[in-house]
Amino acid sequence: MGSLALSRQLAVDDLVSASIAEQVATIARKNLAPMAVAIDEGAVYPDELLRRLGDVGAWSSHQPKNGAADLRCAIQSISEIAEVCGATAFMAWCQNTLVWYAANSDNPALSSALTDGVATGKVLGGTGLSNPMKTFFGIEKFKLKGRKVEDGYVVRGALPWVSNLGPDHFFGTIFEREDAPGEIAMFLVDCSDPAVTLQPCKPFLAMDGTGTYAVQLRDVFVPDRLILAEKAGPFVRKIRAGFILLQAGMGIGLIRDCIAIMNEVDGPLGHVNRYLPQQPQDFNQLLSELEAETMALARDPFNTSDDYWRRVVTLRLHIGDAGVAAAHAAMLHCGARGYLKSHRVQRRLREAYFVAIVTPATKQLRKMLADM
Ligand SMILES: Cc1cc2nc3c(=O)[nH]c(=O)nc-3n(C[C@H](O)[C@H](O)[C@H](O)COP(=O)(O)OP(=O)(O)OC[C@H]3O[C@@H](n4cnc5c(N)ncnc54)[C@H](O)[C@@H]3O)c2cc1C
Repeated sequence: MGSLALSRQLAVDDLVSASIAEQVATIARKNLAPMAVAIDEGAVYPDELLRRLGDVGAWSSHQPKNGAADLRCAIQSISEIAEVCGATAFMAWCQNTLVWYAANSDNPALSSALTDGVATGKVLGGTGLSNPMKTFFGIEKFKLKGRKVEDGYVVRGALPWVSNLGPDHFFGTIFEREDAPGEIAMFLVDCSDPAVTLQPCKPFLAMDGTGTYAVQLRDVFVPDRLILAEKAGPFVRKIRAGFILLQAGMGIGLIRDCIAIMNEVDGPLGHVNRYLPQQPQDFNQLLSELEAETMALARDPFNTSDDYWRRVVTLRLHIGDAGVAAAHAAMLHCGARGYLKSHRVQRRLREAYFVAIVTPATKQLRKMLADM
């Protein structure tokens, strides 16, 4: 493609991305906002809404093309959802991450119907990489074990929490080979398999409507068409920056709403709130720095340099910290009116802690930076 044609194509891609994020924002404000409390209370798992977001392209913009990928539209879309509901933003990350795994796999046997299904939202699901991600950085040991059999593998073990699941969903995770020490493979779990059990979790502080289950695999046969990568090590190095960067959308949207909450109470309470050490304009400044760094890194998720990886890990740490700080400040700005259960600031505070504890959690990120 010539440079003029390429720049025209890039301009068209930017317009398409803007339109996807706008449509996601409209669905978030019109359809998701009235459901946010029910989702937070665990009364609703919004599968219909997730499929509707798929219809407008929310899960497909970040698929690699010609060896490159651009995560900006996906992150922007997740942030639009996170402005309204942190739990749904987390499910959006789960779905986008599942798509990211399938679209980056070079297993020719992996069904293209399945990849298209997750990218369009016809098939829903998530990711069970917390345990492997902690294992890679010396925090845990692999919880799933597998061995080669004809036309696939047999896998056993249990993962304590996997989100955005249901009886016909899929998720990507990793097992350690029992028959080949040191080898690990990445695969998709089909939750409809009778040898897979989804066990509901005890109620959480937030995120109860996210379809989160403890998953048990009882000698599950995993056919070759569900293998994402026979050698999971190099595959994880390829997808790890995307895995982390997509989480930025959860924090960015949440911080935007915390700033909005502080501004909402400025009229009645500004005369005393101005004595608080952290003001909405401080978070506006912080947010624009975080957004600029996110968008710069999101254009190049296959960058293999050490400096790029350090920037990704540092950004993720700062977003977790900033989310908790913004929600804490919003709570102090609201005072007693924010202490009512009916006010959304208490939900934002609980959601902010999740951004800081979901893998890679604040403590893991600090360890990763210390080890670098
Ligand atoms: C609502 C929710 C949704 C999640 N969704 C996913 C998901 O979709 N995919 C995914 O891979 N991970 C998911 N996780 C896990 C998450 O990403 C983190 O791994 C988890 O929060 C713990 O991370 P940590 O680094 O703080 O580990 P730590 O909490 O420091 O340690 C975790 C270890 O402690 C043990 N442990 C934790 N709780 C208990 C307990 N009550 N009793 C005994 N032992 C315990 C576990 O065995 C685990 O190995 C989810 C967690 C939550 C709370």
